[in-house]
Amino acid sequence: MIYYKLTIPGFNQYKFAWAEMTENANVSQDFPKCPQCHEPVGVSYWLPPYDIVLKQPKKIGDFVGGVIGVDLIVSQNFKDKYLSSGLTGIVSFIQLNIVKAGVSTKKEYNILPLWGATVEITYTQVDYKKMEVTWFSEPEENICKLCCPGGGGIGGTYEKYQKIVFKKETLTKNDFFIPINFPGNIMLSQNAKAFLEINDFSNYQLVPDYEAKENIYK
Ligand SMILES: [Zn+2]
Repeated sequence: MIYYKLTIPGFNQYKFAWAEMTENANVSQDFPKCPQCHEPVGVSYWLPPYDIVLKQPKKIGDFVGGVIGVDLIVSQNFKDKYLSSGLTGIVSFIQLNIVKAGVSTKKEYNILPLWGATVEITYTQVDYKKMEVTWFSEPEENICKLCCPGGGGIGGTYEKYQKIVFKKETLTKNDFFIPINFPGNIMLSQNAKAFLEINDFSNYQLVPDYEAKENIYK
């Protein structure tokens, strides 16, 4: 079975809109935690109001990039089709409030609603050894067996890896998921990939797990 790493082009793509939080965004002190060691396995929760600023808003894709307090920003079209698709793994949608688009207000661009989507963090684990990882900071000793290495704050930070490999016995049935020891990485099943393609959604990239390399210096 092949899985695909989803990435959304952000601020340097010059094609589709991307988003930022406002300066007075409300960020919680709370964050997704490992159920075993209670260390962080994701970034802090974003609290209302869910205001965003859209940059380069001329063309808005079905996915909107940017560093923001949700895993994905998606179009109304994506949300509607996902909800009737039978796919699994997106656990919530929150409606975002576009307070500014480009240099003007949103009215000029007649923007349809955008939604913040949260992807489930599953117990699925990646196998860093098989991924030929090089650590930027080495995992500490006696780390949690569930979210480490790779998560939990003391589980180390990768510098590079050559591919993504899962521990097979931990694989989820979700179509969209974040592995618990691979924070911030959204993985898709083959069915989810087919769903994106059939619906011709715009502004995303999928890389098969066996080709998904990473190097934080590149
Ligand atoms: Zn843990």
